[in-house]
Amino acid sequence: MTTTPYCWFLTGSQGLYGPETVAQVVDQSRQIVDQLNDSANLGVEVVWKPVLTDSESIHRLILEANSDPDCIGVIAWMHTFSPAKMWIAGLDALRTPLLHLHTQSNVDLPWGEIDMDFMNLNQAAHGDREFGYIQTRLGVPRKTVAGHVSDPGVTARIGAWQRAAVGAAAVRSLKLARFGDNMRDVAVTEGDKVEAQLRFGVSVNTWGVNDLVAVVNQVSDAEVDTLVAEYAELYDIAPELAVGGDRHESLRYGALIEAGLRSFLTDGGFGAFTTNFQDLGGLRQLPGLAVQRLMADGYGFGGEGDWKTSVMLHTVKAMAKGQPGGTSFMEDYTYHLGEGSHKILGAHMLEVCPTIAKARPTVEIHPLGIGDREDPVRLVFDAVPGPAVVLGICDVGDRFRLVLNEIDVVDPDEPLPNLPVARAVWEPRPSLATSAECWLAAGGPHHTVLSSAVGTDELYDFSEMIGTELLVIDADTTPRGFAKEIRWNQVYHRLGLGG
Ligand code: MN
Repeated sequence: MTTTPYCWFLTGSQGLYGPETVAQVVDQSRQIVDQLNDSANLGVEVVWKPVLTDSESIHRLILEANSDPDCIGVIAWMHTFSPAKMWIAGLDALRTPLLHLHTQSNVDLPWGEIDMDFMNLNQAAHGDREFGYIQTRLGVPRKTVAGHVSDPGVTARIGAWQRAAVGAAAVRSLKLARFGDNMRDVAVTEGDKVEAQLRFGVSVNTWGVNDLVAVVNQVSDAEVDTLVAEYAELYDIAPELAVGGDRHESLRYGALIEAGLRSFLTDGGFGAFTTNFQDLGGLRQLPGLAVQRLMADGYGFGGEGDWKTSVMLHTVKAMAKGQPGGTSFMEDYTYHLGEGSHKILGAHMLEVCPTIAKARPTVEIHPLGIGDREDPVRLVFDAVPGPAVVLGICDVGDRFRLVLNEIDVVDPDEPLPNLPVARAVWEPRPSLATSAECWLAAGGPHHTVLSSAVGTDELYDFSEMIGTELLVIDADTTPRGFAKEIRWNQVYHRLGLGG
């Protein structure tokens, strides 16, 4: 039985070889699919499709792939020689992500036994070159992976592509609810929502925050009781917030926001949302705990009306499903530029996702200087150390730009007893200075998605799938090389070559 989502495996050949050879191709391509499905590196089932030997069946199958919402992409392999004119109509119609797997059935070359029958059966080495040519000639975006499927390096690359394709499918059907508009006067959180819907598929629309308040006010005491009990199971509750504590009512109000927000999002089919502390309507607290817990369940979130980061957070969380590690909304806050390695302290007013927590979070209540509301409840924790990425998205006028920095999350140099919010401390690669210089040169935002579950491979594949620029800052980046990349990309995209 096939689980969803899945991707399809297309095998190319031709009728010239006769039915006996094509039967062998069928058998061997099924074996390749079985080996792929046996690999722990693949998170999405690969579904074998009958071997393709003519233009009509290729075109028809690709139209089916386009219209199947559970098919996140297709993997194509030319087992034998498949004259590529038969692929033109199909590839021209293809709208779903494509991976060209350049492999073969055998691992070793059978030196002692090889004859012309073997040569005619096992000729992906040139069949796939013909296929590569036609894809390049047509300008088909794809990922090419070469090697035998028994090689874990090969399946790891296919696995990353699958996760990227899951993200691309998630954003294609995403609906985002904004409660209020952007924080006043902020530039980088603005952007072209019409272009976003065309490019990514996401629909972004605004609701008055009091539409949410109306739902929050309908939440029953019993729902609040259930959530409060769940909090006590999952987190350490500050004594003043616990049942019987003199501020327990604030925790109950936090639960009320969570239940109301959750039901608003569920009823509307939304996978992502934004809030704005300048526009809280009848809400008595800025949503903190509620947002943190919804993020942990896969919802995208952006503070201050930042719908673009919210879109990317949901997308990256979709890619990360089933992977170890966590993914959170994040903001670059302040630096350590002194002794030891230079570091960034990232956090937000409240909204950091507990999937990146190092240990069991605490639920606390503290004053919030901005927002003009009652003190909000929030989860407080440190982020778990390890390699991760931060991903930002900005609208540079004629297109969207993704900027990624490979980082290492580290423990804080010292405990942070007076910081009343969840936070992450990290060392950007290659250094704080180069990372920051390049990030600023790219016009990267201060809001990001921090993920230890998804890396550069997935996000590069994703950027190719959606035809969006991605600038990567990693251990090999230099400011001068990076500046040139920005300039070259500018030309490439303004000539309309970037998809
Ligand atoms: Mn912010």
